[in-house]
Amino acid sequence: MKLKAFHKLSYGLYLVASEYQGKKAGYIANTTFQVTSQPEQLAISCHKKNQTTQTILDSGIFSVSVLKKDVNMKIIGDFGFMSSSDLDKFSSVKTVTAITGAPIVLDSSVAWFDCKVTNSIDLGSHYLIVGEVLDADEISDEEPLTYKYYREKYKMLSPKNSPTYIEKSVLDAETAATVAEEKEQEPEHEHEHEYIFDGQSWVCVICGFTYNPEEGDPSMGIPPGTPFEDLPEDYKCPICNASKEYFKKV
Ligand code: FE
Repeated sequence: MKLKAFHKLSYGLYLVASEYQGKKAGYIANTTFQVTSQPEQLAISCHKKNQTTQTILDSGIFSVSVLKKDVNMKIIGDFGFMSSSDLDKFSSVKTVTAITGAPIVLDSSVAWFDCKVTNSIDLGSHYLIVGEVLDADEISDEEPLTYKYYREKYKMLSPKNSPTYIEKSVLDAETAATVAEEKEQEPEHEHEHEYIFDGQSWVCVICGFTYNPEEGDPSMGIPPGTPFEDLPEDYKCPICNASKEYFKKV
C-alpha cells in the first residue's frame, strides 16, 4: 500500500470549538465535511485523547470555523499544536455564540457553523461526531485554506492525533524509493539541475515545521541561504513558537 495516495485526498482546514461548564476547548481539523443536506449535518473526526473531543461529547455542541487561506499562523500554532489544558487558546481570539452557545472563532475565518451533536461513532482511535447545523454564516469572501496548500507552503505533516496522520519516516522511505526508481529510469543529463538534499534541514520537534536554509524563513524575516546556526538566538518556530533548542537536524 502506498501511503502517499492519502495525500491526494482533498481537505480544508477548520477550527472546531466547544464549551462545557464554562471551559472552552478547540483544535484545528482537516476532517470536517457535510454528510447530509436535509437536515444539514456536518461530521468531524476527533481523536479520543484530544481534550476538545470530551468537551464536545459532554456538551453536545460544537462550532466549525472555516479558516482563510491567509490564516494567522498563531491560530494554527495555538489551536493545532498546544493542548487546551496548557494554554488558554481563546484569550487571543474573538468569539461569538449563536444558537447552541458553542464558542465560534471569527479570527482568520471566512464562514462558521453552529452544531448540535446528533450522533457519534467509536472508530477506535477517534470518534466520528455528527452534528446538525442550527446556524451558519459567511463572514468573508476571502479564499478558504486548503490542507494541500498548508502542507506544501509550510512543509507540515498531520500531527499525531490527526485522523490523516502518517509516520514521517514511512513517508520519507516512500519518497526515497520513488526517487531511486525515477533515477534509474531517467537519462543522466536530466539530473544536472536537480536539488540535492544535503541533510541540512531542521525540523521543529513540537509541530513538525521544517526550516530549510536554502529558503530561509521569510515569515520571520530570515533571508534565503541562512544556515540554521546563523539564525538569531531568539528565533522561534513560525508555527508553534518553539525556540531553537526544539529543532533537530534531519
Ligand atoms: Fe514548531
